[in-house]
Amino acid sequence: MADTLPPDQPANAPADPAADPTAPGPATRLIHHPYRAPAGFESPAVPVAKASTVFFDSVAAMRSTRWADKSGYTYGLHGTPTSFTLEARLATLEGASHVLLAPSGLAAIALVDQALLGPGDTLLLPDNVYAPSRNLAEHELKRWGITTLTYDPLDAEAFGRLLGPSTRLIWLEAAGSVTLEFPDLRGLLATARRLAPQAVIALDNTWGAGLAFDAFDLGEGLSADLTVHALTKYPAGGGDLLMGSIACRDAELHARLAAAHGRLGLGVGANDVEAVLRGLPSLPLRYAAQDATARALAAHCAAQAARPGSLIRRVLHPARPDSPGHAHWAALCRAAAGLLTLEFAPEAAEGPRRAERFVEALRHFRIGYSWGGPLSLAVPYEPAQIRPAGSPYRGPLVRLCIGLEDVADLIADVDQALAQAAR
Ligand SMILES: *Cc1c(COP(=O)(O)O)cnc(C)c1O
Repeated sequence: MADTLPPDQPANAPADPAADPTAPGPATRLIHHPYRAPAGFESPAVPVAKASTVFFDSVAAMRSTRWADKSGYTYGLHGTPTSFTLEARLATLEGASHVLLAPSGLAAIALVDQALLGPGDTLLLPDNVYAPSRNLAEHELKRWGITTLTYDPLDAEAFGRLLGPSTRLIWLEAAGSVTLEFPDLRGLLATARRLAPQAVIALDNTWGAGLAFDAFDLGEGLSADLTVHALTKYPAGGGDLLMGSIACRDAELHARLAAAHGRLGLGVGANDVEAVLRGLPSLPLRYAAQDATARALAAHCAAQAARPGSLIRRVLHPARPDSPGHAHWAALCRAAAGLLTLEFAPEAAEGPRRAERFVEALRHFRIGYSWGGPLSLAVPYEPAQIRPAGSPYRGPLVRLCIGLEDVADLIADVDQALAQAAR
């Protein structure tokens, strides 16, 4: 041990206090300890830098250090080597230039709304948007004088009619939460650029995870202005933490978001940042595995749906040819997330009860929100909950989130649960 220390570093606390009455007391010695570990340590893990307080060598350094451009450290809230590292790796994932971290995916959405919208502005949300984003619009944003319009994600023409000079922010989601319609992202973007050039276009890219398609290079010169991710889902991968991110390429847009981020006090915990950093290298493998299992299960359920008297009316999954927006998915995507939704037959007696019975009869799928973790999950929804402006779905819905279990076990589980629900 001793020979790894630099020659000028004592291995133990200095000065015997009995011999030197001016020596600091034990508490002070423990706090102001002189030992410095040798520099140059490297391992696969990114060191977990924890801080509220960050030290400066001088008052001048304190006054001149800047956090906004990430050239230095001022306070834990404004970044540490660990959080800057996660931001840089997330930027790589999508080919973005700037990334900010937020305490949850929803906090990232809320930050974008708060940073970019003001009284008199109009916000556009897809009708199948992640529901808490709509709740924020209907409460806080409304109170702050912001008008929200919702659009059918599969009707680019009707979307165009909602755009105008007050349109300031447009959210896109691909595929849509729960019902998984895949919109014509290029068509929506081209329409928005033409009819509302002043609007910022934000994509909730949680489903694509930066892997299914390139949000900043959608082809035909089209790009989202920023993306938001719930890192909670695939990037973290454990179902054990909450975090969100905002990525963009434009320095001026990033500066606006970063300024609001700093003022709003959106910090993330270093241990959670470490957990996401640990999850990132396996993200493409997990995403591909969950994609493959979801497709196999979707194909199996579609075959079940084709049988007379089946409880399942339709399988919603963007890679299925009869799923809404399939052609848009096929034109843009090289992968799909591990999510599928079963529409139950509305005519079945006790339709909603059967969907609930199905969910409760599942053994490998646990009942719970979120996705992207190792355990498969199931949640029943009423169609009107998901598409308030008018649901194209008639039967009750069950969203299945695929974990990392063996595909044959999940298929057998769905079959036994369907048989129980049909009784
Ligand atoms: C989960 C989710 C969010 C919110 O993420 P949290 O970290 O749970 O707040 C946002 N958008 C989509 C599409 C999501 O699935």
